[in-house]
Amino acid sequence: MPAASLFDHFVAAHGSAPERILLEDGSGTGWTGAMADAQSARLARRLAELGCRPGDRVLLQAASSPAWLWVYLACLRSGYVIVPVSADYTGAELRYFLLDAEPAVALADPPRLEQLRSAAAGLPVHVDSLEALDAAARDGAPADAPGPSTGDLAALLYSSGTTGRPKGARLSNANLVANALTLADAWGFSPGDRLLHALPLHHAHGLFVAVGTALVAGARIMLRPKFDAADIVAQLPRCTVFMGVPTHYTRLLAEPGLTPQACAGVRLFVSGSAPLGAALHAQFAAATGHRILERYGMTETLMLTSNPLHGERRPGTVGRPLPGVDVRIGDGSGVSLATGATGEVEVRGPSVTDGYWRQPAQSAAALTPDGWFRTGDLGQLSADGYLTIVGRSKDLVITGGLNVYPREVELVLDALPGIAESAVVGVPHPDFGEAVVAVVVPATEPAPSADALLAAARRQLAGYKTPKRVFFAPVLPRNALGKVRKAELRERYRDAFAGGEPSTATASRPA
Ligand code: AMP
Repeated sequence: MPAASLFDHFVAAHGSAPERILLEDGSGTGWTGAMADAQSARLARRLAELGCRPGDRVLLQAASSPAWLWVYLACLRSGYVIVPVSADYTGAELRYFLLDAEPAVALADPPRLEQLRSAAAGLPVHVDSLEALDAAARDGAPADAPGPSTGDLAALLYSSGTTGRPKGARLSNANLVANALTLADAWGFSPGDRLLHALPLHHAHGLFVAVGTALVAGARIMLRPKFDAADIVAQLPRCTVFMGVPTHYTRLLAEPGLTPQACAGVRLFVSGSAPLGAALHAQFAAATGHRILERYGMTETLMLTSNPLHGERRPGTVGRPLPGVDVRIGDGSGVSLATGATGEVEVRGPSVTDGYWRQPAQSAAALTPDGWFRTGDLGQLSADGYLTIVGRSKDLVITGGLNVYPREVELVLDALPGIAESAVVGVPHPDFGEAVVAVVVPATEPAPSADALLAAARRQLAGYKTPKRVFFAPVLPRNALGKVRKAELRERYRDAFAGGEPSTATASRPA
């Protein structure tokens, strides 16, 4: 008998209590597990009528809504491969995904439907409105369709694309099940949990870390249409778990309603997708009494490490490997580095992808010769197994032949008075090859002087790590998951040394 699929786990979790609420939307309307089961069956049949067969792709571009999740469940139950794409993508980007994934059906919500139709012009794909499909299926008789066997491809997720052409990471049912069961266990999920969910559904964080874990645990999902700090604070008293990206926590801290009383019923705050600064961790603890649990993973591997539910949550680290996951610090060639050394984070485990969609060369390049997945992140493991992420390998700055890990410099800058946050990148330099520059968001008006910042940084950092220039900016450019767009910063400041080295470290505001 094939191992249970993610859909089987959802049925197992809700089967004994079909009237328990599985999902409530922004208006407070609730859907039971039985309703979700029935609607996903009708949608699965409707998709089959539109030509979907197990293994066919279903592309979905829509804002978060219950219908979004019913289509996801329909795909899971019938073996259609969901291809969720960001609601922000343009027609040109959609065209790329349609050509690459070759879906049988593509769905969008009404504001995006015309764009999707234009992008799909001339392609053999059925384009439809998500809402219309959901409404039409409601009238249909209950139906069932064959379930996928574990190992079958369940989802294709395109990388967030902060650089280069997005590649579709192949995720199987076995990957999704391993991730969801491990997290539900590690984070102590139970049917009594209410997960406050304001993450984008097209991303691994929102769909697999949040929804997947709740689905297999039988927990309630409180789905918000988008992240709105005031709305989240208003909902906190009703939830037990909140998952967010660091930017969410920064915004929550700015809300006057974020008090220990508002968080009294919450048992767990989780952060991931981007580094959570130790200062932010401390500020949140001071404001709420809660120590945020930081975890680490990526689309291709799903979750890899986590700080513990019980035990030491060490700020600035992403915790220890989750059960079943092996993590090592390597050099990409199969050699493991010593404890404390900085190198590439290499991983193995049941939630790791088997490769990229129709990209055999890229899939092979992602593995070491001995079969470990190369995350592209640089990290260090402590003697007691806690992992610290110091940056992406492509963001490593090599200046005068010496390696500078941007995160190390950012941590020093972020801790200086008058700095809200910073991003460090390398830009071309006529003498050093690359030079370290810092982009700083001031916390005070007027901003601290660049000379004072650099002098303070220099006291904690070797000369070659200290930024050669500081630029002040009102905000850092970030993507929807809160990751800083470093490629954009490198581009913005690429000519910083085109006229040669300024006589002293200087600061300026970008135009
Ligand atoms: P994505 O595939 O969009 O989920 O991006 C995965 C990448 O996000 C990882 O490879 C890391 O670079 C970064 N990331 C995720 N979680 C963390 C974390 N807790 N701390 C630092 N970086 C993280």
